[in-house]
Amino acid sequence: MLIKLKNKSAAAVLAIQNYVKEKGCDTRVFEGDTFDAIVVCGTDREHKVNAADITSLAESDIDKIMTTGYLLSSRAFKQEDTTFKVGDVTFGSDELVMMAGPCAIETYEQLDAVAKELSKCGVKVLRGGAFKPRTSPYSFQGLGIEGLKIARKVCDKYNMLFISELTDLRFLDAYQEYVDIIQTGARNSQNFELLKALGAIDTPVLFKKGFADSIDNFLCAADYIYSGGNKRVILCERGVMGLNQNHYRHNLDINSLLALKHLSHLPVCIDPSHACGRRDFIEPMCLAATALGVSSVLIEVHDNPPLSLCDAKQAFSLSDFKHLQKSLSVFTTATKSVDKD
Ligand code: PEP
Ligand code: MN
Repeated sequence: MLIKLKNKSAAAVLAIQNYVKEKGCDTRVFEGDTFDAIVVCGTDREHKVNAADITSLAESDIDKIMTTGYLLSSRAFKQEDTTFKVGDVTFGSDELVMMAGPCAIETYEQLDAVAKELSKCGVKVLRGGAFKPRTSPYSFQGLGIEGLKIARKVCDKYNMLFISELTDLRFLDAYQEYVDIIQTGARNSQNFELLKALGAIDTPVLFKKGFADSIDNFLCAADYIYSGGNKRVILCERGVMGLNQNHYRHNLDINSLLALKHLSHLPVCIDPSHACGRRDFIEPMCLAATALGVSSVLIEVHDNPPLSLCDAKQAFSLSDFKHLQKSLSVFTTATKSVDKD
């Protein structure tokens, strides 16, 4: 349950907090641009806390009591774009954040080779999967916790942040220990227990949209994380189911990027690697997404793409990556000069 006030009222917040506490539940208060919002938490709150009682406590201050939909990730709650820092990397600003690295961590040597070159290119966030969600159980499944340890070592060596997908809550402690940004996969976009657990920690989350999620469902799911108190959420578009899988894997939903930016204050990212499933689409998609105003990209890069144990067809080589960076730089300079005119 979320109580949306009409404005900012410390007295109404306090009255509602006291009432909820008396009933054996708890609250989390979120300050929006023009109003406060109070999330009621605790087990069995629906029976313990009564909406009519709350209304009678602060009727003139309450706009509505929500039990469906989303609010905290929306522009109604916060108009300005959210920016936040992870280490010295800023998400959500005008500066595009490049996150790159292999689909899966395969060996220390492989990750070291990729990280070494990427860090020379100025990349500050290294990606690498340790638990690999694969269609077939017979495909490479990742190195697990060992992979996280390898990546931590490599990231510390090159002063990079490490982003990796958490697939299962059993590994949350290890992720908090080794990972700087936790990624959730398309297949977990509605794994609400996972999302609630990520809301309760401080580690920033790259939250991927599922390939069959509507934008509204996606933002509801983002509210699961945000309403738990973890406000460092990056929304990531990674493609939706299309009709042309014999030509490319999914459709990078460019409309959704504009809609997400319109509807939400949270930083928006694209993952063209998983969206397209083919190497030659990645650079043009990055240019397109930059034109649409995304603030970060997540790209798969391998030191030897044909040997990649995972997603070889979409793996960028290091020289592909360098080419992309040049194109992006030309593109960004050109669009900046248009801005000035
Ligand atoms: C990944 O980024 O490693 C991945 C598996 O992506 P997705 O969940 O988007 O398929
Ligand atoms: Mn992959």
